[in-house]
Amino acid sequence: MKAMVFKGPHKIAVEDVENPHLEDPRDAILRVTSTAICGSDLHMYDGRTNMEKGRVFGHEIMGVIEEVGDAVSSIQVGDRVVLPFNIACGFCFNCVRGMTSACLTVENPDGVGAAYGYASQGPYQGGQAEYVRVPFADFNCLKLPGTPGDEFEEDFLMLADIFPTGYYGCELAQVQPGSTVAIFGAGPVGLLAAHSAFIRGASQVFVVDQSEERLAIAEQLGAIPINFREGDPVQQIFDIRRANPLITESLRPGEEKMPGVMCGIDAVGYQARSTDDPDHQEDPSIVLQQLIRVVNPTGHIGVVGVYMPQDQEAIDNLAKQGILKFSFGKVFEKGLSIAAGQTPVKKYNTYLRDLIIAGQAKPSLIISHSVELDQVSEAYRLFDWRGIGEGKEYTKIILKPEHNHYHSDKNYLN
Ligand code: NAD
Ligand code: ZN
Repeated sequence: MKAMVFKGPHKIAVEDVENPHLEDPRDAILRVTSTAICGSDLHMYDGRTNMEKGRVFGHEIMGVIEEVGDAVSSIQVGDRVVLPFNIACGFCFNCVRGMTSACLTVENPDGVGAAYGYASQGPYQGGQAEYVRVPFADFNCLKLPGTPGDEFEEDFLMLADIFPTGYYGCELAQVQPGSTVAIFGAGPVGLLAAHSAFIRGASQVFVVDQSEERLAIAEQLGAIPINFREGDPVQQIFDIRRANPLITESLRPGEEKMPGVMCGIDAVGYQARSTDDPDHQEDPSIVLQQLIRVVNPTGHIGVVGVYMPQDQEAIDNLAKQGILKFSFGKVFEKGLSIAAGQTPVKKYNTYLRDLIIAGQAKPSLIISHSVELDQVSEAYRLFDWRGIGEGKEYTKIILKPEHNHYHSDKNYLN
């Protein structure tokens, strides 16, 4: 089959690789109809992880079941499904509590949890390919209605990772009806965090980035765009709230000490650009620092942007070990909560699917491009610009593998 193969930093090729096969009776083989490039793939593409050459990336995967092992009972050949990016068993201590991001029985010498085609997440191959092996298929396949290529194809693909991840950012930041929210990052995750915040009933949502194109999508979703190139984003948020008489006239004495928002979400992660010199420098703690400033006393911060325990390319020796400088004193003084981590997708994907089916959510609004798997190398190059310069129009890219050798009596694509 054809798959993308990692050749080293900024180098990707499409090659013929061995087809996956059933390795355990609980496995299934999925024929991939759509897969996407994630901001998380860029950390590996940029050479900012320990990912080895020769691996296939891709953890946002949907398609049609091609083959099932003898022990698989609830999923059949021909079923249309989307996979959570986490591979999980469903029966360990963490899975039974819904924390499938920390599954204890999947293969991973580096720690807990596993994912398709991801650094430090086990040996599993990714799904930017024509086929992928699905371990623990009964647990990991989310069944979908309809047929491949229909009106929901791209919405359902967002259930693999970034819609649940945007939603999880809101969960960690405790967004509820009436909440005020500041989201840093208008990439796919930040944008779907904004969409999720409104679904949860937020009253006001700010989205901070430097990409005008991505901020325009945030605005279409109902959020207030904040470009950090136009000044300190925290001050911009304070100023907008202070300039609104409907907010200021309802304040009682003392409430001016709450000039920011109650919920903050980091959808950027450790490759954050310095807001003072975005063209030349990174600043891995800037988003955390700004969140600590913009969130009001007793508020909550959810961190879904990725941070790594090792990063050889980081700006200083502490950051190389994942140790960041931010004011824990302020966190304590303000009584903030900070919660972080990989999304346990399985905990949310069923409900988010049903919001899509009911017409209450439309995560595909953020998709900018859909290309053939053959064009994966150029797609990574453009997406790596993260919404500026040559890649300014590339917000979220879907890859379509070809399936010349697929036969079925059902009427699928091709
Ligand atoms: P992306 O790289 O396309 O988006 C990141 C955005 O952050 C870009 O638009 C960039 O301009 C912006 N940005 C950079 N520096 C900034 C700053 N100082 N302030 C505000 N915005 C800034 O990626 P994405 O797909 O949206 O993913 C975002 C993050 O979420 C990545 O770190 C990714 O690895 C992570 N992620 C985590 C999970 C999880 O399970 N927790 C799942 C998926 C993705
Ligand atoms: Zn992802």
